[in-house]
Amino acid sequence: MSETSIFTRIYAGEIPSEIIAETENAFAIRDIHPQAPVHLLVIPKTEEYRNVVELAAGDPDLLGELIGLANTLAAEHADGDFRLIFNTGPHAGQTVFHVHAHVLAGGLEEKTLGA
Ligand code: 5GP
Repeated sequence: MSETSIFTRIYAGEIPSEIIAETENAFAIRDIHPQAPVHLLVIPKTEEYRNVVELAAGDPDLLGELIGLANTLAAEHADGDFRLIFNTGPHAGQTVFHVHAHVLAGGLEEKTLGA
């Protein structure tokens, strides 16, 4: 990756955004444009992996760490149930090519996939 990603710049404090949780290799922020009552982003500290396919192939333990952090946050910020989304590629809506999971939670029963 030639440019430092926006998420790396947030973690470094160059762009303001509260780090709401952190593990050894990952951190979480609130999405600036929430699409659900709870909409968090769980992000590896490294920007080495552009998407979840690269992450799963290169560091499955780190992928597991992201999912564990998502689970913890869903329990803290909602009732523990959550939807995990990894947009993968621009035609799927990915805009930041530093892998991240969207954690959506809080009363999603009425919303079907894609709604
Ligand atoms: P993607 O579209 O790549 O799956 O997700 C990128 C997400 O990052 C979007 O949902 C967008 O709202 C969020 N985002 C982009 N820039 C910022 C920012 O500066 N701060 C925060 N908190 N979220 C951001």
